[in-house]
Amino acid sequence: MAKDEMDDLLPDKDAAKGFYAKYEPKEILGRGISSTVRRCIEKETGIEYAAKIIDLSNDSNDAGVGGKTMLEATIEEVHILRMVAGHPYIIELHDVFESSTFIFLVFELCKNGELFDYLTSVVALSEKKTRYIMRQLFEALQHVHGHNIVHRDLKPENILLDDNLNIKLTDFGFARAIKPGEKLYDLCGTPGYLAPEVLKSSMFEDAEGYSKEVDIWACGVIMFTLLVGCPPFWHRKQMVMLRNIMEGKYSFTSPEWADITEPTKDLIRKLLVVDPMKRITIKEALEHPFFQMMLWDQDIAPLKRSLSGSSRRLSRISQMALEMKSRTFNARKMFQYAILCVRAMVRIRRLRFTPEPLSMDVARVDPYRIKVLRKVIDGCAFRVYGHWVKKGEGQNRAALFENTPKIELKHIYVSNLSR
Ligand code: ADP
Ligand code: MG
Repeated sequence: MAKDEMDDLLPDKDAAKGFYAKYEPKEILGRGISSTVRRCIEKETGIEYAAKIIDLSNDSNDAGVGGKTMLEATIEEVHILRMVAGHPYIIELHDVFESSTFIFLVFELCKNGELFDYLTSVVALSEKKTRYIMRQLFEALQHVHGHNIVHRDLKPENILLDDNLNIKLTDFGFARAIKPGEKLYDLCGTPGYLAPEVLKSSMFEDAEGYSKEVDIWACGVIMFTLLVGCPPFWHRKQMVMLRNIMEGKYSFTSPEWADITEPTKDLIRKLLVVDPMKRITIKEALEHPFFQMMLWDQDIAPLKRSLSGSSRRLSRISQMALEMKSRTFNARKMFQYAILCVRAMVRIRRLRFTPEPLSMDVARVDPYRIKVLRKVIDGCAFRVYGHWVKKGEGQNRAALFENTPKIELKHIYVSNLSR
């Protein structure tokens, strides 16, 4: 990028003082490899924002992904953020300040934090909530890809939730604008979410490279993780995990999957396809039956399973429906039929609040198979291991890609603040 173009993107030169004059920094909201995100308040308006403060102090001796310095990478991030701006599910960049040692990116604040933390607190999401989030994610991604940008780091930590629990896609730190047909070769992203073609590109000399499809693979990993609370390819040994990714080896065998409907699994299967050319497109994904399913279609599935085919109530409804079809119009019958249908709907809706019968035999041998017990076990496990899930080797991109030690920025801020 030309020097004057860089100046144009970051017009507020030497502006650390400018940032502190305009905003009051508050507590830390999150950290990345070389950035810290703090809540801050715009002094003039009292409006809250999130400031991503990027440390440039190691820049001279540390070229990162694609051989770029942190400054160059941040300029690209700003450039891309401005290209994708104006979409309801993508984070808005409000202000940019640059000094010789720090860059300040001021974003709209997402008070409900990361989707990751939300998921950790609830263990797993229902199909309905997953549908709500995945639809927004695909729409955001469609907008990003429409601008010929590949995100390359989609994961629940980079999906934020606003006041209304709508998503805001963020962290375009690894994003790249590509020309039509252009391929990428860098190994970047987060291990558990890497597409097979990204791994192959870094392993084989004659690899074909990769493109936008890597984000669609990551959507499959996210969708799987939201539904059951654990990722599809996680393994204690990272090499095994990477091999499983390259082979597309995952399964729906854990007990939670028994409650999940077929269209949902089908969409995951179509997202996690090893060959990027055979992977489902965003448009096809949004048209998939998973997104077309009516609300009560999923509510009726447990009902179908718990009632045998000859259920009295259901057969009476279908009997009446048949009678009505074959006869002439009868207002009284029609009214009875309507009442029956409404009562059936109310029962169906209440069904998920009705506990399933507890079998002591199953509970003794395999308590995890029983939904109520599973929730209790998961709840306890997450309270004990929640911190581990977040910091675990397989889930933290720093583990694979961090090649410089983290800098404790706190002291620097304190000295900046006291100036
Ligand atoms: P990095 O590139 O270092 O991962 P991110 O942009 O992902 O930086 O920000 C790191 C973390 O900071 C996020 O995962 C999130 O927890 C928090 N964060 C970032 N932006 C916001 C925001 N606008 N509102 C609330 N929290 C945010
Ligand atoms: Mg991030």
